[in-house]
Amino acid sequence: MERVMIDCRKIPNDVGCTLTIAGQEQEVLTASTAHAVAVHGEVDGPKLQETLRSSLEPAEHSMA
Ligand SMILES: [Zn+2]
Repeated sequence: MERVMIDCRKIPNDVGCTLTIAGQEQEVLTASTAHAVAVHGEVDGPKLQETLRSSLEPAEHSMA
């Protein structure tokens, strides 16, 4: 299965977060949801899930 990543630097956020999470899509969504709630003060829900899902991109070579 292809790995994907999500890069906080590419998502508008107030905390200047630079974290990148890579893995299988469901792993990234689960981890990034927890991260968004814990660090970004987001509220889990359909809107957050949609934002995270739309921010997924193929994992960079160095992360694969
Ligand atoms: Zn972050």
